[in-house]
Amino acid sequence: MSEKPEKSVVLVGGGHTHALVLQGMTSAPLEGAQVTVINPGPTAPYSGMLPGFVAGHYTRKELDIDLAALAQKANATLIDGEAKGIDLAHKLIHLENGESVSYDFASIDVGITSRMDGLQGFRQYAIPVKPLGPFSARWDAFRSTAGPKHVIIIGGGIAGAELAMAMAFALRGAREPVSVRLLDRGRILSANSVKAQKRVRKELDANGVQVLEGVEVAEVRERGVVFTDGRVFEANFVVGAAGATPHAWVPSTGLVTKDGFIDVNRSLETNEKGVFAVGDCANMTVTPRPKAGVYAVRQAPILLANLRKSLAGEALDHYNPQTDYLKLVSLGGKRAFGEKSGLGFAGNLVWRLKDRIDRSFMDQF
Ligand SMILES: Cc1cc2nc3c(=O)[nH]c(=O)nc-3n(C[C@H](O)[C@H](O)[C@H](O)COP(=O)(O)OP(=O)(O)OC[C@H]3O[C@@H](n4cnc5c(N)ncnc54)[C@H](O)[C@@H]3O)c2cc1C
Repeated sequence: MSEKPEKSVVLVGGGHTHALVLQGMTSAPLEGAQVTVINPGPTAPYSGMLPGFVAGHYTRKELDIDLAALAQKANATLIDGEAKGIDLAHKLIHLENGESVSYDFASIDVGITSRMDGLQGFRQYAIPVKPLGPFSARWDAFRSTAGPKHVIIIGGGIAGAELAMAMAFALRGAREPVSVRLLDRGRILSANSVKAQKRVRKELDANGVQVLEGVEVAEVRERGVVFTDGRVFEANFVVGAAGATPHAWVPSTGLVTKDGFIDVNRSLETNEKGVFAVGDCANMTVTPRPKAGVYAVRQAPILLANLRKSLAGEALDHYNPQTDYLKLVSLGGKRAFGEKSGLGFAGNLVWRLKDRIDRSFMDQF
C-alpha cells in the first residue's frame, strides 16, 4: 500500500505564536506534514524583554528566540527570507528573493511595523521600533559608539514611554551630553488607565525624560527633528513608536483585511480555508483585542491544534481571548509597574515578578 503524500505547512514569520507552535511540535510533531518557517534571520526577539535589553539588563542572546535551533528540534525547515506576497489560487508564498514556497496549509505571523513612511526623512534617518530585530541591532551599535547621545522617540504610547525610560537609564552616567525626549501629537499614555498615567509620568520625570505633548513632527533630518511650528530639536537617534502599521504587502494578498490587518474567525482562520493568521497582523473579527504579545502567546495552542485538525480534516477549535491580563511595564532601572483589574503596584518586587515571568517564557525554548 502506498503512503499518503505529506502535506506542506508553511509558517510565514517567526513571531511569538509560531515560535510556540514550533516548540509544541518538538514533543508532538505534526503528523503527515512537512513544516517550513520563513523569517528574516535565524532569531526573533521576545518583546517582553526588549525594554530590559535596551536598559542593559539583558544581553542580546537573552532577548532572542533561537528559531533555527527550534526549527531543527521540531524537524522543520527554516528559510531565512521575507515573504512579499501570497498567490491564493496556486497556494504559493512569494519571497523577496524571487523564489516561491508552495503550501497546503499556511499561517501568517509577521507582526507589524512602526515605520512612518509618510514622514519626510524617516526612512533615511529614523528607525522603527518594530520589527524588533533591526531596532535592537541599531540601538546596540548606537549605545556602544562614543559621542553625544540625543534620542527622540516619536509616539507616547506605553511602548514608547517604556523605551524612553529604558534608554534614559542605559545612557545615564555617560560622559558625553545626553538627552531623551518623548513626543506625542496629543497627550502621552492616552490609552492607559489614570493610575498608569500618573505612575509612568512620574517615572519618566525621575529618569530625566523630557515629554513634549501636542507637537507634530514635520521632518526627520540627519542631526535632528523639525516640528511643524518650526522648532528644531537635536537628535542622532530617532525612533518611531507611534501606532501599529500593517506590513504593506499584506492587504495585497487577496485575504480579507480591515485597515490592513487580516480578518480571522474564532478558529484563527482567514476567509481562505487552510490559511490562518495570528499575532499582531491578525484582526480577530468576533472578539477584537488590542495588539499585545499576550494574545499572540495564547493563540499558539489553538493554532497548533487547528493545524493538526486541518491535516486530519476535522472541525477546528475556537480561541476565546481573555478580557483582562496582568500588564507589566518596566520603569528604566530594575523596577516595574503592574496593573490588573484596576489595581496598580510598582517597585523592585514587580520587576522581579516580570523578570521571572519573562525568563520562564524564554526557558521553554
Ligand atoms: C517596546 C515594546 C514592548 C512591548 N511589551 C509588551 C509586553 O510587555 N506585553 C505584551 O503583551 N506585549 C508587548 N508588546 C507588544 C508585542 O511586541 C507584540 O504584541 C508581539 O510581539 C506580537 O507578536 P507577533 O506574534 O505578532 O509577532 P512579532 O513578535 O511582531 O514577530 C513577527 C516576526 O515576523 C517576522 N517578519 C516580519 N515580516 C516578515 C515577512 N515579510 N516575512 C517573514 N517574516 C516576517 C519578523 O522579523 C518577526 O520575527 C511590546 C511592544 C513593544 C514595541
